[in-house]
Amino acid sequence: MVKERINSILDRALKKNRTLAKIIRKKKVRKLAIIAIMMLPQPLRKMLFSGRERYCPLCQNELRIFFSFGLVPRPNAWCPVCSSLERHRLAWITLQQKTNLFGSSPKSLLHIGPERVIEDKLKKLGHINYLSADLYEPRAMVKMDITSIQYPDNTFDMIWCSHVLEHIPGDRRAMRELHRVLKPEGFAMLMVPITVEKTFEDPSVTSPAERERLFGQNDHVRRYGPDFKDRLEESGFNVRVFTAAEVVDENNIIRLGVQNKHVAVYICNKSKG
Ligand SMILES: [Zn+2]
Repeated sequence: MVKERINSILDRALKKNRTLAKIIRKKKVRKLAIIAIMMLPQPLRKMLFSGRERYCPLCQNELRIFFSFGLVPRPNAWCPVCSSLERHRLAWITLQQKTNLFGSSPKSLLHIGPERVIEDKLKKLGHINYLSADLYEPRAMVKMDITSIQYPDNTFDMIWCSHVLEHIPGDRRAMRELHRVLKPEGFAMLMVPITVEKTFEDPSVTSPAERERLFGQNDHVRRYGPDFKDRLEESGFNVRVFTAAEVVDENNIIRLGVQNKHVAVYICNKSKG
């Protein structure tokens, strides 16, 4: 009864009341709405937004909506139950389909710049020996500068490093370090926002405002293009690239909320020899 009442209010608000829908589209209001939703207990969020139109592979809920999200709002992006975004969902689906991460053999996993939604999922996998690392995030298990990793060669079966390298001035050095600590039969799942045709960087740009203007965010130091793959290969990796079209059936791209064209998953193996 309560659920039906709330759903009908939300339907009216979001679908029929164009004025309110317009207000919710405004950045500040949307941000407040998202913060308010996150304060609700997860079972209530699940109840409020349950439906048939969307499916989140991370929290495994059928939902009515993914919310708009981002500095430049991207529609159909944010899961109101687990807070996953397009990149988290595409990475998870790709790993399920294209890697042995979910096989039962024990694996050591290094999660760099741990996103909570992914951290929670990985920690629940019984065969994973999980380690999170970050230079600044206090929640991470170890402090790590990925341009100088404090672990020996061939330490990890898997590395998860998403949306980190665009913050790192010495990204090539970081890539070589990731390659060094990966086991010969392991793989790294690396992601960055792909927002231009060709990678663009300018180390002389240091002011946050100028970085935001040129690189899209005040703490980014470059924009990557599809030649991100070349940088990874130059660092020694064999690279396979997966976009949504390659891992999700066309009819499910919107339903799974993986339509973002700036997102691709780079699965990197260590070259032989
Ligand atoms: Zn979710």
